Amino acid sequence: MATESTQILCTDCDFKHVIDHRPVSLVYNFPDKQRWTTGRKFGWCYHCDGIHDMEPEVRAQDVQPRIDYLKATMGTFSYKLGAFLGRMSGERPKEPGQLRDLELQLKLAKERRSAVRCLACGKEGALPLWDDKNGQLHHSCGGQFYSEAMEQRGPAPIFDREFIYLDLEGNRVERPDTKA
Ligand SMILES: [Zn+2]
Ligand SMILES: [Zn+2]
Repeated sequence: MATESTQILCTDCDFKHVIDHRPVSLVYNFPDKQRWTTGRKFGWCYHCDGIHDMEPEVRAQDVQPRIDYLKATMGTFSYKLGAFLGRMSGERPKEPGQLRDLELQLKLAKERRSAVRCLACGKEGALPLWDDKNGQLHHSCGGQFYSEAMEQRGPAPIFDREFIYLDLEGNRVERPDTKA
């Protein structure tokens, strides 16, 4: 299988970083034992002076409209009829699960006090790459980062998915007891 990786380069210096696409899941643990699992982002960390995995930013103003839209959809007659007919043939509608997921995101966004963290050093203030808000990130040399797709030679490395367990503030916690 032909694989591609991404390298991040700087316009003004010879900075080069190859993004490592190994699968990583972040598992946020709520005090009431609920969990929300999501993916990580790549970002620039000023503390580490490098590109690392970071937390995604979850903002209530992004999540709330999706909840409202989903609830409105689920309230329509055609949705209810479809869900009813689906259940008759043994299908489970996916929207209730999506709604639960979004409601956990909203809860996280509302309770969270700290900024997104770099997952390498755990400090706040990592800036996501490819984020419209930040535009192209400036490197300390004064240059800007840009990305380039890279043909990977040889077979793609196989990585096991890594699970990182976090509390609501993005601090790493021990893997919680699943039976609890
Ligand atoms: Zn540079
Ligand atoms: Zn860092």
